[in-house]
This record gives sequence, C-alpha cells and structure tokens, in this order.
Amino acid sequence: MNDLTPPTPREDQESGARSDVISYCARRVLPVDGPSLEHGCVVVRGDRILAVGPTAVVAEGRRVDFGDAVITPGFVNAHAHLEFSLLRQPLGEAGLPFADWILEVLEYRRSLEFHPAAATLAGLKESVEHGVTTIGDIASCVPDLLFEKPPVGVDVTSFIELIGLSEERAASQLRRLDELEAPNIGTSSVRRGISPHAPYTVRGNLFEAAVRASKRLQLPLAFHLAESREELRLLDSHDGPLADYLGKLGAWDDAAIPRGTRPLDYLRVLQSAARSLIVHGNYLQDDELDFIGGNSERMAVVYCPRTHAYFGHEPHPLPKLLERGAVVALGTDGRCTNPDLNLRAELRHVAQVFPMLTPETILQLGTLNGARAIGLAGECGSLSPGKRADFLVFADDRQERNACAVVVCGDSPLAAVYYGGRRLAAE
Ligand SMILES: [Zn+2]
Repeated sequence: MNDLTPPTPREDQESGARSDVISYCARRVLPVDGPSLEHGCVVVRGDRILAVGPTAVVAEGRRVDFGDAVITPGFVNAHAHLEFSLLRQPLGEAGLPFADWILEVLEYRRSLEFHPAAATLAGLKESVEHGVTTIGDIASCVPDLLFEKPPVGVDVTSFIELIGLSEERAASQLRRLDELEAPNIGTSSVRRGISPHAPYTVRGNLFEAAVRASKRLQLPLAFHLAESREELRLLDSHDGPLADYLGKLGAWDDAAIPRGTRPLDYLRVLQSAARSLIVHGNYLQDDELDFIGGNSERMAVVYCPRTHAYFGHEPHPLPKLLERGAVVALGTDGRCTNPDLNLRAELRHVAQVFPMLTPETILQLGTLNGARAIGLAGECGSLSPGKRADFLVFADDRQERNACAVVVCGDSPLAAVYYGGRRLAAE
C-alpha cells in the first residue's frame, strides 16, 4: 500500500480471553459520532464493532495496541466516476469552460484508451489504498461489473447512470429503469443506486421516472445539479455556451425542459425519492439551500472540493448549507477532474478553503455524512457498536494537540486500513 509505515502493533492475549474478540487500542480514537477518546479502543467481533471506549473500561479479548496512533472510521467517498481511473491527469486544463470539458469527456470515451471495467477495478484499488472503505460510484458503461464479482475491502453503491434528453433516448433509458432490482443491504458489499445524470442531459419524464423508481425500490439517487452558471442559464433561457454546445452536437431539444426552470424545481421532485444526493450544488441559491436543509433526513449535498477548484467555480455554499443543518458529504469525483482518488486530500483542501470550519466538522463530512448521504449511516461512517468494523489507523507524532487535525490537516502516514474487521494486506 502507499505510504504505509505503521506503528508496529503490540499484541497481548489476556488469560482466558475470548478468542473471537479483538480490541484495537491507540493513544487517541475518534468515533466521530461521540467525543474523542484518550487511550481508547475499538472492540471487534467478526466484522462488527462490539464496543468503543476507554481501553481501561471496554477492552476485552486479544489486544492489538497501535500505541502513538489515531484511529478513525474508514473514509466515505460519496461521489466518484471510477471508469475514468486510468487517466493520469484530469482532462483539459484547469479553469477550462464547462462545455469544453464535456467535449473532452466525450472524446476520451470514444478513444482506445477508455477501458471502463479495468479503470473501475483500478479505481477501487486506489480508493482502498487511501482509506476509503465506502464509495458511491457512477457507472455508465459497466453497471453490472461489481455485482458479478464484489470487490474486496470496500463497500460500493453503484449508481447506474441514465442519460437521455431526446424523446427516443429517454424512452430507451426508461426500459433500463424497469429492469432494476431492489437492493440487498446487509448481505452484500455492493448495492444499486440510480443516477439520472444532470438537468441538461435528462428529459423531464426520465428524471421523474428515476425518482419514482428510487421510491419504489428504496434506492439512493444521485443527480448532478447547479454545477455551473452555464447550466443555470440553459435551464432558465435555453441559451448560453452549454445550449450552443448541445445544439452543435444535435443533442438539444427545446421541448425537453420548460424555460424558466431552476434547480429548486428539481429539488421539489427529488423530495419524494427514497434518498437523494445532490452532486456539486455549486450555484444553489438561498431558498434552495433552505429547502435542502429542511429535508436533511433524505437529501444531502456532495461537495467535490478539488473538482470545484479545478473549474475555478465561485466559492461553494458549504458554510451556508451547514448553517441550515444540511448533510454535506465529500466526493473525489472522477480522475477526469481530479489527479487522484485520495479522499484525505479533499479533507485537507476543505480545511484550506474554509479555515473557519473545525477539523471535527471536516472529518465528519468525509465519514459519517458520506454514509448518511448514501443511506448507510446504520452500517458505517462512525465507530459505533453494531456497525461494520471499518477503521483507519494514522501514525500520531504527538506534535498536534487536536487529534482530528492530525488526520485532516497533517501528513502523518495512513498506517493501516481495516474493512469489516479485516486488515487489508499491504502491497
Ligand atoms: Zn460527477
């Protein structure tokens, strides 16, 4: 694995200890849904967390002591496009117009370099190396790949991508929706989600059918919304660079979206989905932020910090969303806009752009909020009894007094990744 120079754990066996129980101890433990612990431990049986607390109080069974280390929940990357993971650098160049970037994506997808299945597997491997134990992936080309052979060491929600603006294309995508099966939470590390792509690529009837399918099958739904000023202009007045671009491609249909549409119109429809992830939301207005904050039980925003910076967007409304009680998760997006799939680098970026946010808040964005966004808060995202034993061990140099800052702002190595109680082999 990358950067893995672990503190060597010390193992003790208590006399008469239960052999199926292991207590992972460290100087500092960050459960995320509770106060941080000094000299704490995570007690694990099988793939589940049995207890979390001070070592002196809750430790039982075999002990693995990481010493000067910080234990956190595994990271949750709520939005990625793993099929672009073979790219060595983002497409285009920083600051390019949004429509130009879409053209680059289409060209890449048609090129001989595009291998979506191999890229998805490479992206999962990279994600695990960076401590991502749960991921939401948008799959346009190989949506069944992971169901045929579930990956090891990471929980995947594979959102099937739907694109259809013309009447004909929308009809073929509606047939795909009809073929979806219900999820299988609790028995598999791979589950289904639905992703109507974006307002400018999805006809109104297809979007509404996707929301109905989300409700009927109880599947999470991801939708790129309010990503660029060009998108807002296209929705409002059917003109601007994005409309010109779609027109040149022959992909624009004036009847697909009513003039005067705004993101709030989509949010109102999304309200009836089982769960929705608003991806990006860079240009949401105050009343739209209010709406999302008022629907935080089933609606979340996924902020992709370095992708946002790549396009040079106006500041993200992250602080306003948090003020309104909205659930905000983090995503790396794909390697078509990001140099890697390192979620910790996204945490670090948030800390730089929003210095008023505490490291505790930022760590929650990359862990528990991601699990909430995808609908897996009962399964992962924090160190809590009953949840799957997904946790990370970071070396702690004792210089930083705030344990969250060690993870969010520091560069101490990621020493170990555990998924479902299993330590992932170093490579
Ligand atoms: Zn995306």
